[in-house]
Amino acid sequence: MKCKFAWSHLDFKPGGYAPCFRFKLRHGHGFGTVPDKPSEVINSDEWIRVREQLQNDEWPEECIDCKIQEDSGMQSYRQRSMDLLVSEPDYTSTHVKITDLQLKLNRACNYSCRHCSVPSNSNFIKLGKQNPEIGNRLWEQHKFDHVIERHKHIDIPTPEVIEDLFVNVLPTVERIEFSGGEPFYHVEMYRFLERMIADPNIDTTKVTLVYNTNMSFTKFKKYDIVDLWKHFKRADVTVSMDGTGSLFNYFRQGGDYQNVIDNMHDILSRTDKIEKLLLVCTTTAYHAFYMNEIAHDLFHLKQDLERHYGIEVKYRPTFVHWPEGLDVANLAEETKINMLKNLDKNKFTEEFEKRLKGPRTLPEETFKDIVMLQDQLYNRDASELAPRIFDYVY
Ligand code: SF4
Repeated sequence: MKCKFAWSHLDFKPGGYAPCFRFKLRHGHGFGTVPDKPSEVINSDEWIRVREQLQNDEWPEECIDCKIQEDSGMQSYRQRSMDLLVSEPDYTSTHVKITDLQLKLNRACNYSCRHCSVPSNSNFIKLGKQNPEIGNRLWEQHKFDHVIERHKHIDIPTPEVIEDLFVNVLPTVERIEFSGGEPFYHVEMYRFLERMIADPNIDTTKVTLVYNTNMSFTKFKKYDIVDLWKHFKRADVTVSMDGTGSLFNYFRQGGDYQNVIDNMHDILSRTDKIEKLLLVCTTTAYHAFYMNEIAHDLFHLKQDLERHYGIEVKYRPTFVHWPEGLDVANLAEETKINMLKNLDKNKFTEEFEKRLKGPRTLPEETFKDIVMLQDQLYNRDASELAPRIFDYVY
């Protein structure tokens, strides 16, 4: 079995380095972690063992997600990895070089989204300290580490790790993916690009940059990302569009839907480095009440951006399974039946329909309690911003 991730990629996962973001790192694993040197760990015994197993058509135990997907006839991350835009690796060799790098240089984000948690956004820690009772109830009753620290978080690269990347990895890297937190909010990301541009051993014109962003900035402090991108091959951007209009503003504390749209127009009017834009709606029980509106607005946004800028724009949902109370499958049965009755059928809502009809993982719905706790936390309810949710909960 070939897997382009296992032969090309290094990921900074919570708990250590990994060949992809779905790879299951066990406690005490041997795949290395900060401050080990990425250029050395990539060809250590454990990494080689994974490649050897795949060469022998055996599933490494850490690749269980891909196995499950392929066993159930779905397309796996392994299969999708073949579309990764980096050179074809030599699958007959178990020694590789990193051509695809995923980096998280900071965990801070300027938004506070209702499905997010401390491992992905360090700013929640402060909110949890200010509201310990709500933080604890979300954790104890819903197993939701929304604002309290309970799981391993991402190790931020140390100066030694960054040095190793610059000397031994970046001269041959072809693609770098920045995520976070919010990468446009990280001064470290801009400095990293500046250092790459200044380094005579790195040909930035051969490097594609990839971003997962909330698109709430196009300029940050003294930096304009468009100026830095001029030195790189291209920028592939995924924008989180978790909802639409005032639902978006309610769900993403600190977020402003119109500002995000304006920023997309701003950035696309000033750079030709973005050839493809992906709009992703991370879908929770909150969004389930407005799926038709979200599908409608994203469709028109896609058309508008394509017409104006001649680029390819795609949009799709992904689904939250954790905490289980926010999974659409765990809404009350009667509510799900009504949602299905009123659902407009199209490509965007197709997966949502499957998820709604899928098996529940909680016997009872717990969504209402989560909403009430989060409304208290943010001192904001949905009465004006998303009245269908308010009517359902209160
Ligand atoms: S087989 Fe799947 S889980 Fe394993 S490294 Fe490849 S993409 Fe990741």
